[in-house]
Amino acid sequence: MRRKVKGLININPLQTGGILTEEARKALLEWCDGYSICDFCKGRLEEIENPPIKRFVEEELPNFVNADIVRITHGAREGMFAIMHAICEKGSYVIVDANAHYSTYLAAERCGVEIAKTGNSGYPEYKIIESDYANLIEELKKKGKKVSLLVLTYPDGNYGNLPSVEKVVKIAREYDLPVLLNCAYSVGRMPIDMKKLGVDFLVASGHKSMAACGPIGFIAMRREFANVIAKKSKYFPRKEVEFLGCTVRGAPLITLMASFSHVKERVKHWDEQVEKARWFSREMEKLGIKQLGEKPHSHDLMQFESEELFKISQKHKRRGYFLYHELKKRGIWGIKPGLTKRFKLSTYAASKEELKIVIDAFKDILQAYKA
Ligand SMILES: *Cc1c(COP(=O)(O)O)cnc(C)c1O
Repeated sequence: MRRKVKGLININPLQTGGILTEEARKALLEWCDGYSICDFCKGRLEEIENPPIKRFVEEELPNFVNADIVRITHGAREGMFAIMHAICEKGSYVIVDANAHYSTYLAAERCGVEIAKTGNSGYPEYKIIESDYANLIEELKKKGKKVSLLVLTYPDGNYGNLPSVEKVVKIAREYDLPVLLNCAYSVGRMPIDMKKLGVDFLVASGHKSMAACGPIGFIAMRREFANVIAKKSKYFPRKEVEFLGCTVRGAPLITLMASFSHVKERVKHWDEQVEKARWFSREMEKLGIKQLGEKPHSHDLMQFESEELFKISQKHKRRGYFLYHELKKRGIWGIKPGLTKRFKLSTYAASKEELKIVIDAFKDILQAYKA
C-alpha cells in the first residue's frame, strides 16, 4: 500500500502541522512494534523513565504550555471526553462556541451531557459572540438546568478564527465555571500559555499540530483538578481510571517526543506564519477568491470562497472534482476532492515560494476555463 503524495506541496489543513520531522520518522521505525515503550514499565505510562516519558509528561509538556499537570491522550477529542467524563454530571450542560468541532459534541454525547451553543456573526467572518456564554448561562439557570463546563475552540477548524479567551474566562469567573480550551489547531503551532490565558483545561492534538504520527494528544490542567481527572482506581491503586491505566502505548508517543525540540522551536516563529497566511490571503483575493473568517487573519487555516470556480465545476465533465485534479496536476495536494465553491487550506507547511506556485495554479486554472 502506497501513498502517492511525496513531493507534492501539501496545503491540507488536517495534515500540515502533523508532518513528521526526520528524527520522528527514524524513531517511528525503531519503536514500531507493539508495546515497544513498555520494556521498563513501572506500572503506569507516565512513570516510564526509559524512554524518558516521565520527564516529558512531568516537565517538558507542562513547561511548554505553562500547565500544572499533563496527561497523554489519543487526541484532542479523547482529551475533551476524559475531562467532560470526569467533571460534568450526566444531564448537565456544556456550553460550546458556535464553531466547535463535531468531536466536541460527540464527547459530550458519550458522557450523557447536553450541549448549548453560542452564536457567531455569520457570513463572512463567523466570529464567535463571546457574550453569548453569559446569556446561555442565565437562560439555562432560569430553566433550572446546571451548567458544568464552558468549551472554547481556539482556533476552530472551519475558519481558523481566534476568539477572545479573555472574554470567555471573565464570564466563567463570574459564574465560577471551568473553561476548557480546545487547542487542536494551536498547541504546537503558536505559543500557548495556559496560565496567562486563565483557562482551567486545554486539549492538544499531536497528529494535528505537533509533528507526530498519532493518534496522540494531551490534556493539560490546573492542579486543583488533578484529583478528579487523574483519579486512581480503587482496584489498582497505581492506575488512573479516566485513562484506563495507560493511553498511548507505543510509537505515536515516541514520534511526539522525537519532534518536540523542533516543535518548541517552531512556535517561536508563529508571527512569520501569520504574515505568510495574510500575504497568501491577499494574493487569493486579487484573483477574486474570497477569504472567509476573521480579517486580517491570524492563523494558517483559512476557508476560501469562489463563485467562479463553482461556475466552472458546473460545466466541467469532472464536475466538482476538477479543481482537485487540476491542482494535483500542478503538484499541489490538499484541497478536498469535490469542493470548489468553498474550500479550506493551510499555508503552514509550504514555503512562500511553494505558495507562489499555488497562487499561480489558481490563476492559471481560472484563466484556462474563463468563459
Ligand atoms: C482536528 C480537530 C479536533 C480533533 O482532533 P483529534 O486529535 O483528531 O481528536 C478537535 N477539535 C478541533 C478544533 C480540530 O480541528
